Order: sequence, then structure tokens, then C-alpha cells
Amino acid sequence: AQKLLEIENLTAAFRSQKDWVKATDNVSFSLDTGQTLCIVGESGSGKSVTSLSIMRLIDYAGGVIMEGSIRFKGEELASKEQQEMIGIRGNKIAMIFQDPMSALNPVFTVGDQIAESVQLHQNKSREEAWKAAVEMLRLVGIPSPEIRAGQYPHELSGGMCQRVVIAIALACSPELLIADEPTTALDVTVQAQILDLLLRLKEEMGMSILLITHDMGVAAEMADRIAVMYAGAIVEEGLASELFRSPSHPYTAGLLRSIPGLEGDRGEELYTIQGTIPPISQLPSGCRFHPRCPYVMDRCRNQDPGFFRLGDDHKAACWLYDESVSAGSAQTGNKV
Ligand code: SF4
Ligand code: MG
Repeated sequence: AQKLLEIENLTAAFRSQKDWVKATDNVSFSLDTGQTLCIVGESGSGKSVTSLSIMRLIDYAGGVIMEGSIRFKGEELASKEQQEMIGIRGNKIAMIFQDPMSALNPVFTVGDQIAESVQLHQNKSREEAWKAAVEMLRLVGIPSPEIRAGQYPHELSGGMCQRVVIAIALACSPELLIADEPTTALDVTVQAQILDLLLRLKEEMGMSILLITHDMGVAAEMADRIAVMYAGAIVEEGLASELFRSPSHPYTAGLLRSIPGLEGDRGEELYTIQGTIPPISQLPSGCRFHPRCPYVMDRCRNQDPGFFRLGDDHKAACWLYDESVSAGSAQTGNKV
């Protein structure tokens, strides 16, 4: 399959008092057409900065792309002028966020807001656009769409508002939908419904999804590929099936053990990873995870491990997979 999105060595930074402070460091991953990639990590890990970089919205948030490449269907986005991004953002790539209410305009009906997006992207009259908006509401699973179209955001539940936001994003038939914590603000049953909706739309419309989440359970449900981020960098990446079968980075393993249900909820006490994620301006030397790692070794404290390749399509940034460490007993990988 053609790579829809290829991110290579992406480093983004924000201006502090005097200088630029990195928010992501050498991030690389790729996404095939029709697939879902989940970026997983705690808040402050650089997930959102990565998605804002892809959309080039980082420019408006006081940040810059310092280094690296963002290729969308072979086209380099990292060096584009903002003017050129307009044809891509909200057109070929759409984005939805955590809080649907802040994405909707309180003074217009939801039908108007979808119709406006339809008119912006498709050559339709006002009346046709309204009809299309009602159909979009039906497509995203809103009951009585003719009535709902005439209502205002405050008349709809949070879950319904997120469906409306998704409908607005879909009105441009994006090839890639970036969803940044799209269900975090919703209650659990509504979360599951929205995730199901995204999976269904992905199949029906053939779009690819980049899903950003702090929740390994969500990633397990949705992902074809997973990239685990920690303190601005990817620490493990690969096919979801491989990564869940053998989570290899101690941080990934910790994340998996800290969620209920995934490893079989046997009423055991949930694991918590000790310590907190460091601000990226104060990264420890060596492996960035070493102050929190239960397997830390001497070299972890001063040498960055880089990546080791573990399977056909799976890599982790951890010294445990170096041959000289494992002495043949555990899994080892080749240095990437
Ligand atoms: Fe832990 Fe060392 Fe691996 Fe870092 S490199 S995750 S400190 S074992
Ligand atoms: Mg975020």
C-alpha cells in the first residue's frame, strides 16, 4: 500500500523566554492508506504537538518545525507556505479535538454549520447543502436528523455534538482524519459509540485515521499501528498486533499494566508507573525514561539507546534489546 503519511525525524519547538525549547524530538512514523495509527502517551508526551505539526497549526501556536519531514502522499508539508496549507487542511486532512462544544459555534444551528462546510468543499446550492447536512447527520448516527439539523449546539448532548463535529470534518471527504482525544470529554458508553462510528466511517469512506489518545484501551480497540510517545519522543512503534503481543519498552509495558481489563481484569491492584513525565526542557541524560524505569542499567543513565528492531514491523528504544545485555536469554533486536 502507498504510504499516506510519512513523518521523519520531526522536531518541533516552542519559544520560551530566550530560546527555543523542543516539544518533540526526532519523531518518525508512517501510516498506510486505510489504516488507523494511534499515538499513545501521557499528557505532556508531545502527541498533540505532533498532530499540530502535521496540520502546520503549530505555526499559530507559537511553535516551529525545527527539523524533519512530513510527507502526505509524497508531498512535503513541513516547508509549505501557510497559503498552500489551506488546500490541504480541512480538505485532504481534517482534524477533530477533545471538546466538541468549543469546535461548534453556539449561535448557528448544527445544520447550518454542516451545510457551510458542505458548501465550502462541494459545489452545491444552499438548499442542496442543507439536504446534504441532514444526510451527514444521519450518516453519523443522529436520530431524527431533520429535526436535529434545526437545533443549536446547546440543545444537543456532548456525544451528539461530537458527532456533529465529525460530520463537519467529513463534509470535505478527507483522506486523513486526525482525532486528538476525541472521546476523552465524553462518558464511557458514549465514548464507545463514537469510536465505533469512527471505525465504521473509516470503512465506508476509505479514510485513514491518526488517533491521539492517552488511553491504551482505546488504542487496543482502534489501532492497526501504534506509536508510544514519552517525553517528546517515540519509544516504541509498530503493528498493533505485534506490540500488544509483546510490549517491549518498559514504558509501554507499564502503560498496559496500568489499565483495567486488558490483561484480564482479575481484581488485581492496578500497576502505576512511578514518578512523573519530565518537562522536555529538563530531560534526563541517556534514556529519557531511565529515572522511572524498573530495569534501569548503568548505561541507560548516560547513553541514549536509539531503536532496536524487534519484529517484522516493530521497534523499541531500549537497551534491554541489545545482544550484549540479554546474553541470549531474552528477545534481542538489531540496532536501527
Ligand atoms: Fe529502561 Fe534502560 Fe530500557 Fe531506558 S534503556 S527503558 S532505562 S532498560
Ligand atoms: Mg493533547
